[in-house]
Amino acid sequence: MEYGSYTMTRNGQTIEAGYNITAPCDRTGCTIQISRGLDALCGNEPGGDDGCGGFFCDRHLHIASSEGYLCRDCYQHVAGGVR
Ligand SMILES: [Zn+2]
Ligand SMILES: [Zn+2]
Repeated sequence: MEYGSYTMTRNGQTIEAGYNITAPCDRTGCTIQISRGLDALCGNEPGGDDGCGGFFCDRHLHIASSEGYLCRDCYQHVAGGVR
């Protein structure tokens, strides 16, 4: 699979993703520009079940042991809270 640029379905919407796609962090109110590579993805794979499929900046991604990187909301869901 080519990850430079591709489309994925998220919440019924088709969005562009991949290392070559630059977009703001998906966290509401965050305007930091990120590239939508797998290292910015919430979850293990695009469209997977582990995360919400959003792309987030470093401030809004947390390392979860088996789920890969998760956004704050998803991380709280699996880890029971982050402070
Ligand atoms: Zn998430
Ligand atoms: Zn952010």
